[in-house]
Amino acid sequence: MQSLADTFRKAGKTIGFVPTMGFLHAGHVSLMQRARQECDVVVASIFVNPTQFGPNEDFDRYPRDEAGDRKTCEAAGIDVLFMPTVAEMYPEKPSVFVNVEGISDILEGAVRPGHFRGVATVVSKLFHLVKPHKAFFGQKDYQQCAVIKRMVKGLDMDVEVVALPTVRERDGLAMSSRNSYLSADERQTAAAIYRALSAAEQLAKTGTRQPEALKNKIQAVVREVKGIEIDYLEIADPESLVPLASEQDSMVLLIAVRIGRARLIDNLVIS
Ligand code: AMP
Repeated sequence: MQSLADTFRKAGKTIGFVPTMGFLHAGHVSLMQRARQECDVVVASIFVNPTQFGPNEDFDRYPRDEAGDRKTCEAAGIDVLFMPTVAEMYPEKPSVFVNVEGISDILEGAVRPGHFRGVATVVSKLFHLVKPHKAFFGQKDYQQCAVIKRMVKGLDMDVEVVALPTVRERDGLAMSSRNSYLSADERQTAAAIYRALSAAEQLAKTGTRQPEALKNKIQAVVREVKGIEIDYLEIADPESLVPLASEQDSMVLLIAVRIGRARLIDNLVIS
């Protein structure tokens, strides 16, 4: 991968990179399409990274579809599909980590200790392998985007991070590989996540922008349906992700829920 990247760079080509964990959907494809528009060569990676999963999380059952993913990448005009094995990425027990302090420890990081250390480490390794000029990430994973941007800035990495909007199903549910864990009933239930975020957005437009009121609105909508449990719900500063006690011009609503065996996250920026 490194010598291929060198070849592209020596030929004066810009490299766009879309890192993923596979089981590709239209959200991933939107990143690939943007990369295709903006760069000469597009590299996508598929790697389910063990170091970002906790001991009791879904690493072993994370959905995989290599044949389908290959087709999706071809259709999206990807030039290189990089699919390293765990043994290739981590030939030894990992002892070198990238830790983006502070922002990695709140929200998703508080529920999933070590998660963002795993993410920052593997993305850093992938950047060194693929040597991209631009890397494309989805705002669906809002905190992940913030962590990566800080990592790139803090370590002076010569990569432009591009964050793109969340692609949603018709009923608003954010596309996610983990939606495949949902039964038909649970899939209906899951629509409440975006309904709740939209209700809060509506309230912010027409009523109050007070964080506590917005949270109450979200909770009320979620409580209307059975079988959904809020893991965390925060209104935070869009840059620092520090929770807000009072309203400000721009705010991000961040939510994580459990539905059956699925744990889903979503967010909405109010500005
Ligand atoms: P994953 O395979 O879940 O690790 O995601 C790989 C990349 O795709 C990450 O940058 C995600 O934020 C992005 N992504 C996942 N779901 C969506 C979505 N519904 N819309 C836009 N981007 C997404």
